[in-house]
Amino acid sequence: MNTKKLLMIPGPTPVVDEISVEMARPVVSFKDKTFVDDFKWTIDTLNQMWHCDGKLFILSGSGTLAMEMAIANTLKKGDRYLLVSNGYFGDRFDEIAQKKGIIVDRLRTENNQSVTPNQIEQKLKQNIYRAVSVTHVDTSTGIIAPIEAIGQIVSRYQETLYIVDGVCSVAAEPCDMKTCKIDILFTGSQKAFGVCSGLMMLWASQRSLDRRISLGEIPEYYCDYQKWLPIMDDPTKYFATPSINLIWALKKAVQIIQSEGLIKRYERHIKNAKAMQCAFESMGFKVYAEHSCRAHTLSNLIYPEGIDDMDFRKKLEDEGIQVASGVGDFFGKMFRVGHMGNVDQATLIATIAAIEKALHWFDDKFDLGKGVSTYLNEICQK
Ligand SMILES: *Cc1c(COP(=O)(O)O)cnc(C)c1O
Repeated sequence: MNTKKLLMIPGPTPVVDEISVEMARPVVSFKDKTFVDDFKWTIDTLNQMWHCDGKLFILSGSGTLAMEMAIANTLKKGDRYLLVSNGYFGDRFDEIAQKKGIIVDRLRTENNQSVTPNQIEQKLKQNIYRAVSVTHVDTSTGIIAPIEAIGQIVSRYQETLYIVDGVCSVAAEPCDMKTCKIDILFTGSQKAFGVCSGLMMLWASQRSLDRRISLGEIPEYYCDYQKWLPIMDDPTKYFATPSINLIWALKKAVQIIQSEGLIKRYERHIKNAKAMQCAFESMGFKVYAEHSCRAHTLSNLIYPEGIDDMDFRKKLEDEGIQVASGVGDFFGKMFRVGHMGNVDQATLIATIAAIEKALHWFDDKFDLGKGVSTYLNEICQK
């Protein structure tokens, strides 16, 4: 029998049928009214939903393109920039900025907790930074940063724009441009929106659009705000061909979010994550991130003694469950389970059950049912 594959990695996340069918629609011209109207609707709706006073950009490309776009339109050679990193994805900004000759100061977590607003404030007092970047949820550690508290601080510094990498958080963890005082927020279609990979969305505040103007010419071409602004205002115009079917899929994803309600969606993620994480702990795993800064979009789990990473993930693969390995220093010691986007409880239960089966294979004294019952007890609590 061919086992159905459950995609439980932190992106791409499972794609529901309503979204899949959008990708199978017959392709039309990017000037076709049936597409242009949907593109416009998606841009305007996402702009409003995340309370952006500037512009949303939707481009073909993955989250990494959005990282580059954020830096390219904010900083120029010789500018000083504060990079706040809670893991591998935070560190990625370093290379992007270095390539542009930007002066990078770094604040990096040294344990399982987020860099604090206070640490950031100390830095901001010492130097004038043209930008600060923070990763909302770093997918390598599962640490969530207090982006609202950080935003309150950064907003007191006139010169400093606030960039938030929301690739593993937007549409799952509470955050919006206004409340968190963000200048640039971005994500990719394949994470909490539950679309295939291939699109990035970047919200730019008015302050960010103004900064871009003040930079004059920039070396980048494809990810220059100025190239795309006319298209985001009027998608009948052409700069580079949009991913028509992915944008239709994104529109459907936005409609699904609207019908669920953003607040309800955030609550669902929190509730599921807490129950998943209790279940994992009851099964002998350690959730890497400390309680106070634990993300709700994924779980980063440290193996108990005696479990080989490769063998374990192979066992899960045989059960049809795909999870992700640890990255960087965590490779071999950690595995990661995504639980964001349009994933339902039955799928989460199936995932826990398969993990139990794998644990039982390693140790036949493992108490089968423990994880599932812990999850259900948490979920069913009034
Ligand atoms: C996945 C991810 C990225 C990179 O996105 P790609 O779509 O793989 O380019 C960047 N930042 C965070 C926090 C991520 O989770």
